Amino acid sequence: MSDVQVNTQAKLENVKIVLVNTSDCRNIGSAARAMKTMGLSQLVLVDPIEMPNGQAQALAAGATDVLADAKVVNTLEEAIVDCGLVVGTSARSRTLPWPMLDPRECGEKLIKEVPDYSVALVFGRESSGLTNEELQLCHFHVQIPANPEYSSLNLAMAVQTLSYEVRMAFLASQNASYEKTGDADEEYPVVEETERMFQHFEDALKATSFIVPSHPGLVMTKLRRFINRARPDTKEVKMWRGILSSIEKTARRADKS
Ligand code: SAH
Repeated sequence: MSDVQVNTQAKLENVKIVLVNTSDCRNIGSAARAMKTMGLSQLVLVDPIEMPNGQAQALAAGATDVLADAKVVNTLEEAIVDCGLVVGTSARSRTLPWPMLDPRECGEKLIKEVPDYSVALVFGRESSGLTNEELQLCHFHVQIPANPEYSSLNLAMAVQTLSYEVRMAFLASQNASYEKTGDADEEYPVVEETERMFQHFEDALKATSFIVPSHPGLVMTKLRRFINRARPDTKEVKMWRGILSSIEKTARRADKS
């Protein structure tokens, strides 16, 4: 393998497939197989209802290594804490509109940004998908434009479809003419840093009484959506932390006087 190939292969290793609260471990096995056929290897299971067993292994077929290496964590936040780009999947439109990507754009965006940090594709429960709180932890949502009258794919098949798009974008990126553009030139913070910023927002807005703890309303949800849409880079997140600290200080001083 040439150096260039080693380097580009490393990109796929940093693409995480995150399955949230999966109830049927056969889907986990099939998802592992789907991933390996497309060159993906990082599987993260968030609080699986059924841990992978022999049935999952049978469906994983030649991808039992992906299954064996799967990381199990308790929350979605833990799974994506080191990711700079997180895309959540959804079989249907949600009440809270969020920046959307189509599957092709999703593959391209993940591959463009993965040289800089880990990126994640998040899949939901077989019965009910991802919760609104989970979807709000994602920078973008992706929907496979399936038959509007029957749009819900089997979980592992959704993993297959989107992993295929990641692979297509990866293959295109091996072509020298595929250059980093736009967003990928910015240095974006990982989820851990943005979550700290959101916590800081909440603390500061409570200190000024803009958020009343007994009636928090939708302020944080709307703020998340707004800030997510702007996609602040690392320097802008630092600036916000500074602004919020100054607000907290002023609120504390006002409290004392
Ligand atoms: N009944 C659920 C669908 C669950 S399907 C609901 O209404 O949300 C299980 C998972 O497969 C979804 O959470 C999503 O991760 C993925 N999936 C299924 N169909 C999809 C589609 N059309 N586009 C994107 N992801 C899809």
